Amino acid sequence: MKIAEIFYSIQGEGTLAGVPSVFIRSSGCNLRCSWCDTPYTSWQPEGEEMPIPDVIEKAGQTGARYAVVTGGEPMIAKGITELTEGLRLAGMHITIETAGTVDAEVACDLMSISPKLRNSIPHGVWAAQHNRLRIQPGVLKRLMARAPEYQLKFVVTQPEDLEEIREILSATEAEPGRVILMPEGTTPEKLRSKALWIAELCKSHGYRYGPRLHVDIWGDKRGV
Ligand code: SF4
Repeated sequence: MKIAEIFYSIQGEGTLAGVPSVFIRSSGCNLRCSWCDTPYTSWQPEGEEMPIPDVIEKAGQTGARYAVVTGGEPMIAKGITELTEGLRLAGMHITIETAGTVDAEVACDLMSISPKLRNSIPHGVWAAQHNRLRIQPGVLKRLMARAPEYQLKFVVTQPEDLEEIREILSATEAEPGRVILMPEGTTPEKLRSKALWIAELCKSHGYRYGPRLHVDIWGDKRGV
């Protein structure tokens, strides 16, 4: 599997925010979000090929009980089934962070899906592929059913994003209580600038407000 980085930190997003976790970040993505916060896994993919047993061993050496398999898009990473089954055998709780455009056989405790809204469409040659792939209700429903728990994290940039979110929830029959709205941004200032209107949307619709603790704590840094 092509691995961009493996590091021990705290989960910054979603229902497990604050939980010490080892992050296994695969490199390679089928989308190209305009605001991608890990361009070294998508626009300019970096990393090295690692045998799956070595990935599991390195993750285990951190002592973490929670593993976050992320990317890039981990569901297209070569060996994703073997990796997640190995992490389960090692006794870890497994979160998979995916954009929700590809389904695969995986061992998973929390399927953390972040469907990409229109606000993610880039300019240029990637625009058409990105827009064609980014929302697939059938795949989203299969992923939601693949693990005991799921969450839908939406990166929002403007109040108008709500309309598209509601269309997706209607097409997938997702529960509002599993929906998390996260401000787009990689600095505490940028996140805070969107916080008030997002909090009001959450209050009106029963969604959760999604902080990004790693940005609050460490700022715009890689490997944290
Ligand atoms: S799906 Fe994730 S990794 Fe891929 S381009 Fe979008 S934000 Fe980046």
